[in-house]
Amino acid sequence: MVLAESVHKSFGLVEVLKGIDLQVLPQEVFCLVGPSGSGKSTFLRCINHLEKINAGRLWVDGHLVGYRQKGDKLYELKDSEVALQRRDIGMVFQRFNLFPHMTAIGNVMEAPMQVRKESKAVAYERAKRLLDRVGLADKINAYPSQLSGGQQQRVAIARALAMEPKLMLFDEPTSALDPELVGEVLDVMRGLAEDGMTMIVVTHEMGFAREVGDALVFMDGGVVVESGHPRDVLTNPQHDRTKAFLSKVL
Ligand code: ADP
Ligand code: MG
Repeated sequence: MVLAESVHKSFGLVEVLKGIDLQVLPQEVFCLVGPSGSGKSTFLRCINHLEKINAGRLWVDGHLVGYRQKGDKLYELKDSEVALQRRDIGMVFQRFNLFPHMTAIGNVMEAPMQVRKESKAVAYERAKRLLDRVGLADKINAYPSQLSGGQQQRVAIARALAMEPKLMLFDEPTSALDPELVGEVLDVMRGLAEDGMTMIVVTHEMGFAREVGDALVFMDGGVVVESGHPRDVLTNPQHDRTKAFLSKVL
């Protein structure tokens, strides 16, 4: 579903991704962990076309991100073509970024109606189903300010799902939540995983990584330090940098 080959990304003179190689298989829950500043968010943003890589190759679902390949030549995609590629990718951020003036169901209906020109009735039915799936059937008419952080994040997940993505990116989805609200969001993510969604999850929740993750990559300083099955990496880390990080978060 995702293939990164020697992905480099700099901001000015600062190289943030220094050659990332990894692959994410369909239906895999792929956990990306590492200290603050190691480049995790930047990597997700590259996958989602929010940043452009400087060197290397990045494929999502068989398509080269941002380019069309003809023979051995590459052509940069037009904005409209980029938008098409992005549609298949859902993203959930640490801050939920819901539209404050819209109800929960309004938030979930918005993109299908605006982007896919879906009718209100069709968008409504799907949004209702998705809010039910994230456990918010009784909150469809609530505004974000009337919802807890955990509920808002679940609306944000439903909103991302409304575009029927092939790949979901989660960037520290529980880091901004009070501890007692973390579980309800992780439960929704666990359900998604069970339904076969391909997910890349940046998280410090090592319990989730261990129980739900199929693969784990430890990143530090813009490189992949270590990767493997979460159980193996978490119980038997090979590198000192991984050990040092895990001793702080476990
Ligand atoms: P992580 O998500 O692992 O904490 P980030 O990908 O957010 O790390 O950031 C990696 C590094 O890139 C940090 O040093 C950060 O300051 C820098 N960085 C991220 N985005 C930008 C940007 N738009 N401009 C300049 N530097 C950035
Ligand atoms: Mg980050």
